[in-house]
Amino acid sequence: MKNIKPFLKEAEKKTFDYEHRKRINHNISKYNENVPKGRLQFDDYELARDQAAYIKRKAVYNLEKYILEFELNFKKNGGEVLWAEDASEANDLITDILKKNDCKTVVKSKSMITEEIQLNPYLKKYGIEPIETDLGEYIVQLNDEPPYHIVTPAMHKSKEDVAELFHEKFATPLDYTPQQLTLEARKILRDKFIQADAGITGANFLVADSGAICLTENEGNARLSTSIPDIHIVVAGIERIIPSIHDLALFIPLLSTAGTGQHITTYNTLFFGPKRSDELDGPKKMYVVLLDNGRTNLLAAPEQKEALACIRCGACLNACPVYKNIGGHTYNTVYNGPIGAVITPFLKGFNEFVHLSYATTLCGSCTSVCPVKIPIDDFLLKNKHHYTEKYKTPWFEKFVWKNVSLFLTKRNLMNFGSVNLKNSLAAMALNKSWNKRKIPIKMAKKSFNQQWKEKFKH
Ligand code: SF4
Repeated sequence: MKNIKPFLKEAEKKTFDYEHRKRINHNISKYNENVPKGRLQFDDYELARDQAAYIKRKAVYNLEKYILEFELNFKKNGGEVLWAEDASEANDLITDILKKNDCKTVVKSKSMITEEIQLNPYLKKYGIEPIETDLGEYIVQLNDEPPYHIVTPAMHKSKEDVAELFHEKFATPLDYTPQQLTLEARKILRDKFIQADAGITGANFLVADSGAICLTENEGNARLSTSIPDIHIVVAGIERIIPSIHDLALFIPLLSTAGTGQHITTYNTLFFGPKRSDELDGPKKMYVVLLDNGRTNLLAAPEQKEALACIRCGACLNACPVYKNIGGHTYNTVYNGPIGAVITPFLKGFNEFVHLSYATTLCGSCTSVCPVKIPIDDFLLKNKHHYTEKYKTPWFEKFVWKNVSLFLTKRNLMNFGSVNLKNSLAAMALNKSWNKRKIPIKMAKKSFNQQWKEKFKH
């Protein structure tokens, strides 16, 4: 587990940063209050989850069929489809399009996948300026930090933090209200939309039977990013596929309800390729870059492949006691929280990221809120099992557990030696870990076995 030490260090730091914890819990609690209200829009929310789980599993188990159907139909609609095996191939394809079309400025709507491939630094290397247009994403871009949460990138910031940031960057007054700050960002971004040569977005859903791309958002920035510039590039993971346009009637409200409690996101757009001859607005050229980047590793995992059904609603992050303590940045991955802990080892390597699968209480809260019923806690266990099967467990760990198991299954070994001595050894062992942060453990003077015998006179 290559990265476990920095992870533990950062996790400890964040967990005992009470201000950070208070802010995150406050922000998440607002979503958690709204989600139950949002669910009431469904006659039967459990049935809606069952249907969504069934449709997404159908898509995962027939991924090749549906993704090829999407490609065929999107081409019929006049768009171009490009396939990228990994991040560098995707970045090359996107940069080539931009260079060929002489694009200097690009507006982007929030997309975790372009974070995944690290598109922004790549574009900058070629003199192309990428501008984030989602407000949360714009804030973290200004502060030069990665998104904190897959749905709300600036969840960790208070309004005072944002006012300070805007003051530093744009000399706005420190006492600006959230409304004034939003208007300031709006004013700056309006010009960027008008000047941009291309728009880059992700995709919430790729619709196989219509060759359409569905985007859901609350700010209208994705619409502006895709309707003003002449070029629209969509970057999408192959797992974004759904079989039919009819499925959107379920998925659009389900996605927003599970994530934020909204009945429906404010702007929901379907793109059927570039502007047609009889249309006034829209891009002249439209491309979809379909990305693998480790997704087929997950597809090949017989037990965990259903994690590809994730619709990135963020509900499992909001429900997770680990996420609520250590926060999003500690994971050091694009997809964080419980689902990130399941999929990242497949996307970026088990040796480098399986430690995230151990950062769990196994309480199952994530599974209970997932709108597509992914058994996340079970998959975390399966990742651990996969890791111990595939990679060699250190000899010392094996030795310790073998002896612990021997000791715990033999009564005479457990009773061997004085209770006082054993208590002192246990106290020494716990002193550095448990006792450092928690109320010191008080050892009983007699073992459980002795107390039992005395009580029942065996
Ligand atoms: S795993 Fe489920 S709850 Fe978590 S982000 Fe994906 S769809 Fe939402």
